[in-house]
Amino acid sequence: MDAAFTVARGDLLVRDGAIAAVGPAVPAALAALPGGNADERLDAGGCLVLPGLVHGHVHLCQTLFRGLAEHADLLRWLRERIWPLEAAHTEASLAASARLGVCELLAGGVTCVNDMGTVRHTEALGEALEASGIRAIFGKALMDQGEGVPGPLRDDAATAMREAVAVAQRFHGAGDGRLQVSLAPRFILSCSEALWRDVAAASAERGLLVHTHVAESPSEGREVQAAVRTTAARYFEARGVLTSRFVGAHGVWLDRDELTFLAAHDAALVHCPGSNLKLGSGFAQVHNWKAAGVRCGIGSDGAPCNNRLDTFHEMSLAAGLSRALHPVDPLTARDVVALATCDGARALGLGDRTGSLETGKQADLCVLDVSAPHHAPHGQADPYTTVVHAARASDVRATLVAGRVLYRDGRWSTLDPGRVAAEAGAEARALVRRAGIAGLA
Ligand SMILES: [Zn+2]
Repeated sequence: MDAAFTVARGDLLVRDGAIAAVGPAVPAALAALPGGNADERLDAGGCLVLPGLVHGHVHLCQTLFRGLAEHADLLRWLRERIWPLEAAHTEASLAASARLGVCELLAGGVTCVNDMGTVRHTEALGEALEASGIRAIFGKALMDQGEGVPGPLRDDAATAMREAVAVAQRFHGAGDGRLQVSLAPRFILSCSEALWRDVAAASAERGLLVHTHVAESPSEGREVQAAVRTTAARYFEARGVLTSRFVGAHGVWLDRDELTFLAAHDAALVHCPGSNLKLGSGFAQVHNWKAAGVRCGIGSDGAPCNNRLDTFHEMSLAAGLSRALHPVDPLTARDVVALATCDGARALGLGDRTGSLETGKQADLCVLDVSAPHHAPHGQADPYTTVVHAARASDVRATLVAGRVLYRDGRWSTLDPGRVAAEAGAEARALVRRAGIAGLA
């Protein structure tokens, strides 16, 4: 699938981590190689080869909390469970949580994640991401105020920015350019006006993405209105936060004027349909985002609000919700695949590097088996419909990032799943004890 959504039948040649030729161009490109042949072949017969999936919003620090924060809306979910659990992380538990999440994501065809991080131990997250081989944007979550924010998660604005910049200095561009560092102010209610202004200035100075949450739930919207006398997007605009480096997750409650100025600033939004449904946050109007010209992607959000890190599940939900909300002119299956590939990459500022299968782009690939009974009898007839409405993460046969096979047929090349699961279980039990939340231990 290239930028014009052409579906080619044939081979794909990878050289030095990048796509060297696609489809009809492969035989000539192969013949031109020294020896006239490839060093290694990966048989993708019976499969679709997709651009690696781009996961636009996730919290890898929360993978250990899967199933521990049920039955609450956003603010109670954060204050009563998620923040106390995040506050109990150590370097070891954060790394274990990230490895567990990346294990699941790679097995589901994801080659690129945009992760919100947490407040402490961000270096451990960076090291786990670097060692995994996945492409990632991540940052230290920034919080300097807010009801229910535990002391260990609260910095003063200057400390928060100093630590965030130190993470960027260490990891931005690491892993042969696979890692990028963002600034990650969590949301309006957890960040002071001074912190937002510092974030806007540091983003402009250093060219870092600003990754945050925007207009997620009705109760959050009411508290934002009470705290800052306006809506989140208007607040961001007034403080210079909205630029082409802005990535806002959820955007469920944005009005048309807000979408207009998000588009005017070339800001991006990430659709999180599974999380929006599970937390009862509402129905994001992605149809209107696209009509306004906003760049947009898709993501699962963290494991405790979904509870899957499965882009195929999110694509299916996005398509179904769009049909229910806009029966006359819904998102097509191709539109939805674009959210998880080329559009998602553009939303993260990575459109020149990944998101489609074109010569010169990074060889970030998802090999999807469409030969199973649940794809029969027409699994290859319309690949977009197949991917959105029939495919499952478990159909992924192989996941490659920059030409490197990170997952293939139930084996991970950089992660030992038995060890990852054992470590995650032990670290999760210890973390829950440290958090000391009534009813959890
Ligand atoms: Zn989130």
